[in-house]
Amino acid sequence: MTTNIKYLDEFEDKHNYRSIRVPDTKTLEFEPLKPAPNNDAYCKVSMVKNSDLTMGLSLFVRTSDTDAQLTLPVYTFVLEHAGNGRRVAFDLGLKPKLEDFSPFIQTIIKDTPITWPRGTLPEIFADHGIDAKTIEAVILSHVHFDHIGDIGQFPTSTKLIVGPNTAKAALPGYPSYKDSAVLDSDLPFGSEREVEELNDKSPWVRCGAFPEAIDYFGDGSLYILNAYGHMVGHIAALVRTSTNPDSYMLLAGDSAHVRGLYSCCVGCAHPSFRAGLYPAAHGLSPAEQKRGGLLAIHYDLPAAYLNMARMGRMEEEDNVCVILAHDLEWKKIIDREQGGEDWEWVQVGDWMAKNRKAEVKRELVYKPDGVKDYDKI
Ligand SMILES: [Zn+2]
Ligand SMILES: [Zn+2]
Repeated sequence: MTTNIKYLDEFEDKHNYRSIRVPDTKTLEFEPLKPAPNNDAYCKVSMVKNSDLTMGLSLFVRTSDTDAQLTLPVYTFVLEHAGNGRRVAFDLGLKPKLEDFSPFIQTIIKDTPITWPRGTLPEIFADHGIDAKTIEAVILSHVHFDHIGDIGQFPTSTKLIVGPNTAKAALPGYPSYKDSAVLDSDLPFGSEREVEELNDKSPWVRCGAFPEAIDYFGDGSLYILNAYGHMVGHIAALVRTSTNPDSYMLLAGDSAHVRGLYSCCVGCAHPSFRAGLYPAAHGLSPAEQKRGGLLAIHYDLPAAYLNMARMGRMEEEDNVCVILAHDLEWKKIIDREQGGEDWEWVQVGDWMAKNRKAEVKRELVYKPDGVKDYDKI
């Protein structure tokens, strides 16, 4: 099929990305989530708006409207166990300034409109009563520039946790390798700080639709999910947000950037959108650029689509709510509640009491009828 997007016809579809779709959730295995072992086996969840960045919509969703822009909020999450008070952070967002990134990333994002973080995350945490010393671990969904933050700003007692094969995919960092997308200091293996890369020997168990999960606190209140696909080492998290009744929030990282990729309109379980494609020359790392052909923002698109289906299957459970790392619907809802965009810290664990899941469905930012040629190219 020819299209009016030049590059789709000019670059070979060598990874066969043009025709595949998100699988039907009915094809997936699913194991019901285990009931909480006690009343305190849940986490309080704070969502912190770190920054935002504006990019082309066609990067994220297949559309012939290659001029449309999308402003993505960037979130980081602070999780606190209700019983023992232990705290972890999920994702660190952007570093505070352009010059903080590797030279390669600076060239990629220098023309990207960005609202930069107002300070370091420990400074922002402190302004909301959280001492960075009390964050026992930082979990990075993946090491793209808008999630990696700067672990060096946290005390060395804060452990860093990354997904399988992250080091192999991302290191050496800058300055060891001048074209690297990360800094050596972003993944400080062998330093004073403990850095754990999940691997084959990690204690994986099944969690709902996800075949591989780590029960972080041992009571089902926080599972780290192997959510490979968007990037090598991409992980997500399932957090129990209440007991009696049990409810869960799935922190999806970059599993999807636009909700319609994995779950469409109200009452429609079949995904409509497909991920955007672009020439490999525009890849987010030198390794991606070398892959050639057409790429998606998702490194392994078949795996990313399977991961989206798993996420969609989880959300078919009434007590599970998905929140994306750049969630547009949640931003709309919180902006309205806070009377504008000038907020940076909100509690989101009470989503079930506030009926947020229904609200998110009502507030879909992108519906198929609003995206040009979404199903024709
Ligand atoms: Zn990403
Ligand atoms: Zn991202």
